[in-house]
Amino acid sequence: MVRIEPGVTFKSLQQRLKKEGLSYHLPAFGGPVDASVLANALERGEGIGAYGDRFGLLWDFDVALATGERLRTGHARIGLTEISRLHARPAGPLIEGLFSQSNFGIVLSATIALQPTLPYACAIMAEIKENDGLERAVPVLRRLITSGLIAPQSLVLWDSAKQASSLLGRYAKEAESLLAKPKQWGASLLAFAPHPDLMRLTQEIIHAELVLVSNCVHIQDDRDEVGHRQETIMTGFSDGNNAMSGYWGKKHRPQTPGNMDTDRCGFVWLCPVIPFEAKDICNLEKILTEESQSENLFAALGMQAISSRALHCFVSLAWDRDDPLAEADALSAHANISKRLKAEGYSPYRLGLLDLELATKPTETWTSVRRRLKNALDPQGILSPGRMGD
Ligand SMILES: Cc1cc2nc3c(=O)[nH]c(=O)nc-3n(C[C@H](O)[C@H](O)[C@H](O)COP(=O)(O)OP(=O)(O)OC[C@H]3O[C@@H](n4cnc5c(N)ncnc54)[C@H](O)[C@@H]3O)c2cc1C
Repeated sequence: MVRIEPGVTFKSLQQRLKKEGLSYHLPAFGGPVDASVLANALERGEGIGAYGDRFGLLWDFDVALATGERLRTGHARIGLTEISRLHARPAGPLIEGLFSQSNFGIVLSATIALQPTLPYACAIMAEIKENDGLERAVPVLRRLITSGLIAPQSLVLWDSAKQASSLLGRYAKEAESLLAKPKQWGASLLAFAPHPDLMRLTQEIIHAELVLVSNCVHIQDDRDEVGHRQETIMTGFSDGNNAMSGYWGKKHRPQTPGNMDTDRCGFVWLCPVIPFEAKDICNLEKILTEESQSENLFAALGMQAISSRALHCFVSLAWDRDDPLAEADALSAHANISKRLKAEGYSPYRLGLLDLELATKPTETWTSVRRRLKNALDPQGILSPGRMGD
């Protein structure tokens, strides 16, 4: 485990873990590498791999409250810092959740569990067959999770636009050729093993399952020709290149991502949870296609398995903020998609700034309890007013 403060970035943590010999890593993600690990975990962000649920693995918070008080959770609240490093849940209520996606306090530091870096790993990419391919692929993918062959957070599904958008910049040619093909679903999986025989068998079983529902299955390990491990997402190295997807709407794109804000990249997410069913995936795709018809918008869809039951989806719209027409199209597409997701019962698991106004109103009891908690922890409403929609 590692104790982190707000200024620890993905890049700096990875450099430190490399120095320590890489026995453990933080699952890689698609965001910018200079983002804060603690902020991402408090936002309930996700990495790819068995330990991808960052907030689920975060404990022993040291919190600054706006009252001037300093609140410690975990066993450390009774001074037992040694056991607090090893065990997350002392007797009594668990209140860490209050500080996630909220404005109740500033977390000064917390402990996060790292994933043991097993000596063998592979990434498997499958192109799902067209027509009824997705319907046949979903039970196979779910079975890979329930059987324990892959961890839920190790499976990501992409539409071809999402796949292409992450290839922009350095890999622009591959992105163009992917977009020229008919629209298609792809799945990426990571598998890990402590022994080469187990890795080989795992790969064989996954391959045998996937070829039934795929046009093409590609397996890649993370070693070079002489057997040295390379720095890939399999050992927690995020390269930040996926941030290029934010440049999709721009006519002139850099080779590597810069500052998306000053580069005037329009980019917005919607993050609904959907059942892990082919009909819901197709429904979500239909909503996105119908509501993002504008030629000024670049829409993409990705989703990460959270369990064999539910998918966390990332619906993204990219546009050029220097084009006022594109800006108007993006805001209206965002509002329409949001409305339709709500009507389908696809509830969000993360909210962006644009989502706050459109979010469904919770019950009165929920709102009143939340207000009482806010008043108790931040009586003058100093921290991030409006962060939770009021
Ligand atoms: C192209 C792209 C791809 C992305 N891919 C992924 C992905 O694969 N997985 C993923 O999870 N995210 C992804 N993201 C989202 C993004 O990387 C995260 O939201 C990011 O980690 C937030 O970083 P930040 O340092 O800017 O945090 P901030 O924006 O500063 O913080 C996020 C929120 O956390 C809260 N917060 C921050 N620090 C504290 C604190 N100390 N105490 C209390 N609350 C706090 C605040 O409410 C704040 O609103 C992606 C983003 C982009 C642009």
